[in-house]
Amino acid sequence: MYDFLRELFPICRSITGPGLRETIHRIGTRIPLTIHEVPTGTAILDWTVPNEWSIRSATIETLDGRVVMDFADNNLHVVGYSKPVDAVLSREELARHVHTLPDQPTLIPYRTGYFADSFGFCLSHQTWTAMTDEQYRVRIDSTLAPGSMTLGELLLPGSTDKEILLSIHCCHPALANDNLSGIVIATELAKRLAGVSRRHAVRFLFGPGTLGALTWLSWNQDAARKVAAGLVLTCLGDAGPYHYKQSRQGTSATDRAVAQVLADEGEPLTVLPFAPVGYDERQYCSPGFDLPVGCFMRTPNGRYPEYHTSADDPSLVRPESLERSLDILEKIIAVIDRDATYERVDGRGEPQLGRRGLYRLVSGQAGRSTSQEALLWVLNLADGRHSLLDMAARSGLTFQSVAAAADLLLDTQLIREMSQ
Ligand code: ZN
Repeated sequence: MYDFLRELFPICRSITGPGLRETIHRIGTRIPLTIHEVPTGTAILDWTVPNEWSIRSATIETLDGRVVMDFADNNLHVVGYSKPVDAVLSREELARHVHTLPDQPTLIPYRTGYFADSFGFCLSHQTWTAMTDEQYRVRIDSTLAPGSMTLGELLLPGSTDKEILLSIHCCHPALANDNLSGIVIATELAKRLAGVSRRHAVRFLFGPGTLGALTWLSWNQDAARKVAAGLVLTCLGDAGPYHYKQSRQGTSATDRAVAQVLADEGEPLTVLPFAPVGYDERQYCSPGFDLPVGCFMRTPNGRYPEYHTSADDPSLVRPESLERSLDILEKIIAVIDRDATYERVDGRGEPQLGRRGLYRLVSGQAGRSTSQEALLWVLNLADGRHSLLDMAARSGLTFQSVAAAADLLLDTQLIREMSQ
């Protein structure tokens, strides 16, 4: 995953263009993506797919030809969607097109201007304050022209029509934790989940933020109703503790499964309530869809000093953080897939466990994966209204423990699964 992240890092991505296309095609060499090209001008709900942006080079030079900024050194140097320019500007004019971070004077900010019809440069504040000439020659060799927006999609089938949606934005240029960590983890997760039988289908959607999610939603309004759980994946490669931003519903299977798995794994988790800011959960949780989609992160967007700067580079990402996030996501998917609701075949009193060999199965055998306590909790909460996730949360037992108890009680025909 870390090697793939470093491979993708130098590519200049945006919401359209050759960098986004190349990124999605490189994902497609690892997993069997269906790739969509959505033409410029396509109406997407209240939006329209914009012109495709491509950029070949950009520089700021002194009038005697000394290069003070070169896009080739860092693709954050040019504001995304900058129109072409070749001009001599006074420092004062140039200042209107320059973005810096005075509080982080050595870092280059990340800025975009998708709908601005302008151009701009992002510089370290240190570079900018050292630029004291009266005039500079600025050049951006870019194109804004009809083209298309690239999306990649993979559906791993399940035995029911319920789906788990994983959504990964791919529109950030050289930023490692925000965007690339999600991309490489999702790619590896798709490899791990392929060929495993499951009740839920798992859908992976790779595309630009906002318009990618909106396109999928507007094209798949029936499929959207099948989404039983979903996660936006980003910022999963730093060393920070996990954060989960809840879906708008706040009590969805996704919300409960993430909290349960992190607790079972002994991983500290900060749960953030839904808010209509952030990533594509904004689109999935818009009132016309209201899907059970949350956002899973380590340190959240905006809460680490390297966020949206040139310091969000591969040195911020740790291979072991990627690996742990991948393992946890695999467990979250497994829990969502295993969750089910049961009812007692005969709910009057406790059944006699010894007569059915259930004491023998759970007692005194170190390493057995359940307990008498779990059996009693499942027997009590198998009322057709509590799923295994509810039982685990209410009992304080692990999901695995109540699920194993449910398996034993199913085998002995003391409970039955409610139809979905
Ligand atoms: Zn971002």
